[in-house]
Amino acid sequence: MDKMWQETIDWCPTEQQQSQLQSLYSEVVSANRQLNLTRITAPEEFWEKHLWDSLRGVGELINNPLELKVIDLGTGAGFPGLPLAIARTDWQMTLVDSTAKKVGFIEYIAPELGLTNTHPLVSRIEALGQERQHRHQYDLALIRAVSSANVCAEYTLPLVKVGGTAILYRGNWTDEEATSLELAVAKLGGEISKIDRFTTPISDSIRHCIWLHKTTDTHPYYPRAVGIPTLKPL
Ligand code: SAH
Repeated sequence: MDKMWQETIDWCPTEQQQSQLQSLYSEVVSANRQLNLTRITAPEEFWEKHLWDSLRGVGELINNPLELKVIDLGTGAGFPGLPLAIARTDWQMTLVDSTAKKVGFIEYIAPELGLTNTHPLVSRIEALGQERQHRHQYDLALIRAVSSANVCAEYTLPLVKVGGTAILYRGNWTDEEATSLELAVAKLGGEISKIDRFTTPISDSIRHCIWLHKTTDTHPYYPRAVGIPTLKPL
């Protein structure tokens, strides 16, 4: 896959990263029988939808020398956070999920892969957004396949520093969603800074990564209490 990595994201794994990505694949597949982590287990599909998609989502940041403090919200079995922690060992990666068994998998796999830059956490995202040690602390917040865009904005932006970025990994994207997201983001101290549209290199599936720029501190009112963001989306 070296050529494919190079041509599509201008990045190429070292031999060590290659073997870490390979181990991540085998560990997810073997833990899957008990933990029900993902429905994507065929090698090519796993490469495209889990590994490639995770890395492509951050765009040019993958090759940017800046060391970032990153949080992946609703990470599940560790996507997009784990492939990024492998690709960028200089980034500190907090991986959050409310399901203890999924976070347990990450706690087990990170040392197996030799990673020392991962910080797994069992928590509800809404609760974390109100905790002093997490609120307004991150350069980059990532969220994939967790909820609607407006809910994802309320989940991510309170955790991001002013000047930082949230990236919402989406599939299809409509003008209606963009209009609605713009209003939500304004309430949260941010603005939409980029809509990155691309297709995946094997199955040609559509993806949109929505970049939110944090312009001012989020009002203490957000994120609202656990469950409210999904019940009454902004
Ligand atoms: N990001 C992963 C997993 C997506 S599944 C991927 O793309 O493969 C969505 C995950 O979000 C689930 O593991 C679920 O437990 C978690 N989740 C959903 N709402 C959450 C919340 N409010 N707080 C914490 N985790 C949440």
